[in-house]
Amino acid sequence: MSRTEIPRIVSIETTNRCNAKCSFCPNSSLARNRQTMAQDLFEKIIDDCTKFQLPAIEPFLNGEPLCDPNLLERLEHIRKRLPNTELRLYTNGYALTPAKQDALADIGVDHLFISLNTLDAGRYEKITGLSLEKTLDNLDYLSNHPQRQRIARKLTIRMTRLDDTPLEEQEKFNQFCVEKNAIPFIAALYNYKGDINSALPVPNFPCANITRVDILASGTVTLCCMDQEGEYSWGDVRNESVLDIYNNLQARLVKQAHRSGNRKNFPPCNICNYCSPSFEKTGIIRRLRFKTEKRNYWQQYKPRGMVAPR
Ligand code: SF4
Ligand code: SF4
Repeated sequence: MSRTEIPRIVSIETTNRCNAKCSFCPNSSLARNRQTMAQDLFEKIIDDCTKFQLPAIEPFLNGEPLCDPNLLERLEHIRKRLPNTELRLYTNGYALTPAKQDALADIGVDHLFISLNTLDAGRYEKITGLSLEKTLDNLDYLSNHPQRQRIARKLTIRMTRLDDTPLEEQEKFNQFCVEKNAIPFIAALYNYKGDINSALPVPNFPCANITRVDILASGTVTLCCMDQEGEYSWGDVRNESVLDIYNNLQARLVKQAHRSGNRKNFPPCNICNYCSPSFEKTGIIRRLRFKTEKRNYWQQYKPRGMVAPR
């Protein structure tokens, strides 16, 4: 058992439904069935996670968590069964109504991420298909909430930087986050292993997503969030435990390919430009090489932070 690895995050797609149609996201063209995860399957996954020291859990993958009618009960369940695991919640904020926020104050999320993408009402509607006014009203309520720290100990507001996002808009976004007492996070667009147009090249250092377990609403463990249909599955939590799947042959082959410097020869990672790195278990020499590659890549292509449109 000494070789058993522990994932750094388990992510659970409690629903793959979404109220938005973001232009940079494959959710609206999913070929899979639209579904909400069965409660007994969800509880089985959480039970699996109590068997090891899980650092973080995210009830979210390819969908909007607040479209899951049982989300609050599920968050409560996670809190109760995994009290020492960091609970992270991602949302586009549109359905994060005052009533939902009040209810969240009784649960307490560790880190809340709100995907806002733009402060321009026209662009917002074009990108997401939603009205910006309602999302901003929800954000106002949150930032003025007397229990804001209880609802979410940390708050990050996220912008996916598109090729035409003006620099002034990125500056305005950063300022907005400061006013809301939130961490600004501006990130480039990734290519979902070729399904979405993105100019970033494919790196060859190991990807951070190999150290997660990402579970679709059906129970299929997908390679990662970029494998939105589960085509490169590691297994199924209906038949195996979360920890067994993270350590099975398929998962080990993926980790080994990345850690040995062979990401560029390993489908679908060979065509995926996701560039958050993982240096775990790479050995001293390779770790130094990967760190240098990562530094050069990030300096040249700037996948995070403000960048002028091309
Ligand atoms: S990015 Fe999030 S909010 Fe937008 S369509 Fe995809 S899942 Fe929905
Ligand atoms: S390289 Fe891309 S496809 Fe491969 S694990 Fe990372 S995010 Fe997923």
